[in-house]
Amino acid sequence: MTISRQAFLRLSGFSFVVAVARKAIGAGARARWGMAVDAAKCLKRENCTKCIAACHQEHNVPSIPDRAHEVRWLWKEPFDHALAGQVDEYSALRAVPAMLLCNHCENPPCVRVCPTQATWKREDGIVAMDWHRCIGCRYCMAACPYGSRSFNFMDPRPYIHNANAQFPTRTKGVVEKCTFCSERLAVGRPPACVEACPEKALTFGNLNDPQSPLRQLLQARQHMRRRPELGTGPDVFYIA
Ligand code: SF4
Ligand code: SF4
Repeated sequence: MTISRQAFLRLSGFSFVVAVARKAIGAGARARWGMAVDAAKCLKRENCTKCIAACHQEHNVPSIPDRAHEVRWLWKEPFDHALAGQVDEYSALRAVPAMLLCNHCENPPCVRVCPTQATWKREDGIVAMDWHRCIGCRYCMAACPYGSRSFNFMDPRPYIHNANAQFPTRTKGVVEKCTFCSERLAVGRPPACVEACPEKALTFGNLNDPQSPLRQLLQARQHMRRRPELGTGPDVFYIA
């Protein structure tokens, strides 16, 4: 097979971009993916929801106006609620909205209770979902102490605007949640929320790699995890 010079240069350029992106997230060493959210940086843009919009657009998350039927992969809640007991009454962070998502826990209770293995822990730390195997029993929702999972009470498709043809839509009766953008990681791209944040408040990377920007950040700055007393071991960190 021959390849034109132009096509070769295009491919080389793509490979270079992928290599740079993989280095930025520390994809060299055997991966265990995690994320840090810098609240102070996030606060610089009041009411910003670019990360949520990018995630929900990329993954065909429906916009259902009825809160009782809401589906969400990313959302915001005040710090003193999201990290209850870890910010005191004098902290400036109290009323700051924290960006929340599935914590891709080291020891995920949601995985333990699923009767069909529709949700499982991958070797790289991602708590994955197979929507075809989900029978909608919602045991995982009851087991997750973070409210990270949503149930499709109705057909979500009429509520998806500008559907992304590259990502599957779900059906009525299945559970869904953040996947740490495993489909993007597979081609060396960072998660959509990380890419979309104008303040670079989200740092994604390999917790197994001491040189990754995520590990460096966690070493340099004080951080918190949601409900550490439960022993679930969240791999999402909040920089104070
Ligand atoms: Fe499971 Fe909830 Fe932990 Fe995500 S945050 S891995 S859904 S227990
Ligand atoms: Fe597993 Fe789906 Fe039941 Fe959750 S709702 S426990 S993913 S089968």
